[in-house]
Amino acid sequence: MDKDHLHKDGFVPKHLLKKLAKEGNEEAEKTLVKMASIEQKKTNAVKNDSSEVHSFIDSTQAQRLIYDSENTKEFKRKLVREEGGPLVSDENVNFAYDLSGQTLDYLKNKLGRNSINDQGMNLIFNVHYDENLNNAMWIPNLEQMAFGDGDGKLFINFTRSIDVIAHEMAHGVTQFVNELAYSHQSGALNEHFSDVIGSAVKQHVKGQTAETADWLIGDEIVGPTFPGKALRSMKEPGTAHQFDKQPAHFDDYRELPFDEENDWGGVHLYSGIPNKAFYLVSLEIGTDRAAFLWYTAWHNRQIIRPNAKFVEAFEAIIKTAETLTGQGKLPQQTVSVVENAFRQVGIKSPVTV
Ligand SMILES: [Zn+2]
Repeated sequence: MDKDHLHKDGFVPKHLLKKLAKEGNEEAEKTLVKMASIEQKKTNAVKNDSSEVHSFIDSTQAQRLIYDSENTKEFKRKLVREEGGPLVSDENVNFAYDLSGQTLDYLKNKLGRNSINDQGMNLIFNVHYDENLNNAMWIPNLEQMAFGDGDGKLFINFTRSIDVIAHEMAHGVTQFVNELAYSHQSGALNEHFSDVIGSAVKQHVKGQTAETADWLIGDEIVGPTFPGKALRSMKEPGTAHQFDKQPAHFDDYRELPFDEENDWGGVHLYSGIPNKAFYLVSLEIGTDRAAFLWYTAWHNRQIIRPNAKFVEAFEAIIKTAETLTGQGKLPQQTVSVVENAFRQVGIKSPVTV
C-alpha cells in the first residue's frame, strides 16, 4: 500500500499545533520543529531497521518492552522494564507498562483480540522520546510507539493517560485489521476507531458508563497554556478547545485537500461525525457492547476497504449488528439504535434508505 497513506500524525495533530503557533504559542512552534525532525528520523529508521520488523512477533502472549529514549530521538535505546519485571523508580515507565497492560486486557477480554496483531505481538514503547516533546505516536513502519514528556506548558506527560495509550495502540490494530488509509473519510474513520478504543478502555478502567463518562479525548495531557479542556469531545464534537471545529453532522463535511495544512483531508476534523454516532449507540446499548460491535464490523474488509467512506463503515456496522443480534450477542434493538444514531449525524446507508 502507498506509504503516503499510512498513519503519519501524532496524538496531537500538526494542523492544531500550527494554529496555536500562529496565535503566538511558542511551545507549539517548538513542537513543530521537533516533529519535522522526527519525520526524517522515521524515514531513516525504516531503512536501518527494516530487518527487525516482525521479528518480535510471539505466537502466544504479548510482552511489554519499555525503552527509555533518554530524551534523544533513538528508538529501543535502553530497555528499562520488560514483561513481569518489577516496578522501577521512573514512574513514566511504570505508567506506560500498566496502562498498556490494561489496554491489552481490554482487547483480550472484551474484544477477543490477542494484542495489536491478534498474534500476541510485543508492545514496544519508547518513553522520554526527544526533549519536552508535545506528542505521542504509533509508528507504522517500525510497529513501535513513542511518547514525549510534554513541555509542561502546552501538554504534560503523554504516558500518563489511558486514552492516549489505547488510542495509539488502536492505530496499530487498524493497520492489521483493515488498513484504513490516513486521508479524507477513511483517515477520519481511522482516527475515529482509535478514539472509540481510547474511550472504551478509559471508561472500563475508570469504572465509568456511557452516561457518567465525560467522553473527552486527551483531557489528561493538556497543560496550563492549552486553550481548552481536551483535544476532542465525542459527546459534543467542536467544544473541546478554542480551535475545535469538529462537526457532528455530515451536512458540514467538505472535501479538503490532502496535505498537512488541511489535516490530510480533515482526519482529526471529521472523525467527530462517526464519534458522535458511537456515543449515541453507547448510550443505548453500553460502551463495551458498542465497542465490540465496531471492532467486529471493522473486520468486514469487503465493505471497509482501505479507502472506505463513512457510509460504508455504517453499512458494515449495520450488517454486523444484524449478525450479532441474531447470535444473541447484542440486544435486539441494536440494529435500530445504530440506524437512528447514524441518521442523527446525517449518514444514511443505501440499504436502509
Ligand atoms: Zn490518532
